[in-house]
Amino acid sequence: MSILVYIEQDQGKIKSSSLEAVSYAAALSEKSGDKVNVLGCGTIEDADWNQLGKAGADAIYHVADERLNSGVIQAHAHIIAQVFAKVDASILVLAKSALGDAVASRLAIKLNAGLVSNVVGLPDMNAGFVVKRSIFTGKAFVETAIPAENKILAIKKNTQPIKTDGEEVSVESLTVDLPESVFAARITEVEKASGEVLLPEADIVVSGGRGLNGPENWGMIEGLAEVLQAARGCSKPVSDLGWRPHHEHVGQTGVKVAPSLYIAIAISGAIQHLAGVNGSRNIVVINKDPEAPFFKAADYGIVGDAFDIVPKLTEAIKAL
Ligand code: FAD
Repeated sequence: MSILVYIEQDQGKIKSSSLEAVSYAAALSEKSGDKVNVLGCGTIEDADWNQLGKAGADAIYHVADERLNSGVIQAHAHIIAQVFAKVDASILVLAKSALGDAVASRLAIKLNAGLVSNVVGLPDMNAGFVVKRSIFTGKAFVETAIPAENKILAIKKNTQPIKTDGEEVSVESLTVDLPESVFAARITEVEKASGEVLLPEADIVVSGGRGLNGPENWGMIEGLAEVLQAARGCSKPVSDLGWRPHHEHVGQTGVKVAPSLYIAIAISGAIQHLAGVNGSRNIVVINKDPEAPFFKAADYGIVGDAFDIVPKLTEAIKAL
């Protein structure tokens, strides 16, 4: 038996959440002795493959068809099922993401597998196969047993440190059966502002709230985000008012983020906003109201006027 890890790429670069998934599988293999096979689809930059061996892959397979560069769910699920059988796998590991969830649910049916998403820990093998997962947007955890022979684990971002001390592994090109029917629905064009860091994948997020008074004041959010190479986010009222685009809206009804660092500027910290950020490893809050609820969820807080603090912070970081 073995483990198969499905990795995602964005514009040729392997996503860090997928490197976490490989590292998770490597840690699991230390307990179970199973081989870690990794599958990548579409165009992936040559230099990026090296990271997979370092993260703990024992074997790497690549299906290079360019039609797989976009998230064609049926096609990806079709390929994973074939490779799962080829490597005699019983466990599929992938990152919890929009594509990961969509692919995993299809594969649960195809492979007759038990699927657990939002996994935050290694399985307890002695108790059968029991994994811990996060629920209620990170407010609680449950332990879930997977008695099915085939298992699918979708790993929550920021769960597993990325391993970097593994051996280099060569990449084997695979030819798989890819009927035209699995491309029945296909993304033909993706419009993306160049140079922007993707919000759900970002390691650092700088987010602004209604306290910033208007879109004309977003320059300082952009300035801080630029020096930190961070993605930009905002609270719901900010996108409802049209100050920022909806795809930047973070929270229960917006994007869920799990960066290493979330900087919340002039955001009160309503429970619906916190629901989208409580997977963050560190939260820094800048708010002029010392009673703002966000301070209770913060690792570090600055009480003061954002218009005074943010430019100084940006300059100080630039000077580093
Ligand atoms: P405000 O509540 O107006 O807070 C502004 C903050 O800025 C205050 O804390 C103030 O002290 C501070 N401030 C003002 N001036 C300055 C200054 N110069 N310097 C520093 N600080 C300053 N909200 C979300 O964000 N995401 C969601 O997904 C979401 N989903 C929702 C779903 C439902 C069903 C409902 C009912 C609400 C939802 N909301 C959501 C709205 C949420 O309840 C809050 O109303 C919203 O988050 C408040 O946004 P805010 O903190 O930017 O604005």
